[in-house]
Amino acid sequence: MDRRGFLYLLAAGLTGAAVGRGAAGLDLAEPPAPAPEPAPAPATPTGPGGIVAVPAPQGVVEELPGTGPQIALTIDDGSNGEVVAALIALCRDTGTRLTFFPNGSYRTWGDNARDLWPLIESGQVAFGNHTWSHPDLTTVPDAEVADELRRNQDFLRRTLGVTETPFWRPPFGSHDERVDAIAADLGHPTTVMWNGTFDDGRVVSAEGLMAAAEQWFAARAIIVGHANQPAISTVLDQLLALVESRQLVTVTLADAWSAPA
Ligand SMILES: [Zn+2]
Repeated sequence: MDRRGFLYLLAAGLTGAAVGRGAAGLDLAEPPAPAPEPAPAPATPTGPGGIVAVPAPQGVVEELPGTGPQIALTIDDGSNGEVVAALIALCRDTGTRLTFFPNGSYRTWGDNARDLWPLIESGQVAFGNHTWSHPDLTTVPDAEVADELRRNQDFLRRTLGVTETPFWRPPFGSHDERVDAIAADLGHPTTVMWNGTFDDGRVVSAEGLMAAAEQWFAARAIIVGHANQPAISTVLDQLLALVESRQLVTVTLADAWSAPA
């Protein structure tokens, strides 16, 4: 820049930072510092099928968030210890990810706890509250709703080491604002319903169960099933083949929704 130009800048008051690089060009000894490298974007931790967990919402969910190929298989109750054991073996042997909603009143869970611990530790199985003894909560008073949920929380913690979960599922899917609010107060803001089923809430055959799976297995489905009747443990290979043939990826509910901070 020549002297006239410099004087012009001074006259116009365009000195210092206001003229940016033009003013810096006056200092011949020091070239302008290069712009710093942009920091690399932090890697977003992703789960199976590239799922990214979002905070668990307060309210009812019945399908997985996002647009990925995930399916959540969820298993309730647990009256049949052999079925519980078969589902645990399925997870251990195949990497299948499952979410359980146990009733602590069934001893089957304690009987199988040792085999569950490593799967819980690794995050391959997740848990939600399903009450201690499976009453229709909309028909019982507040104190009993709370007792049912608290007693099952104690069971989840003591027997399985599950210290907290945002998820709960009302027995029979029967809930209203009152019971949802009590569950939320006790640390379960997310009422998990479903948009697909093994249709095993009533007596079901292996064929009936597979027909239901054929109907409902889809991306982002939450499938409800039960560890109560032996049918499911006779079709585990077929269920996995169906997951694979539809290019689905099993996830737990905790893969999809993280506990709110
Ligand atoms: Zn149930």
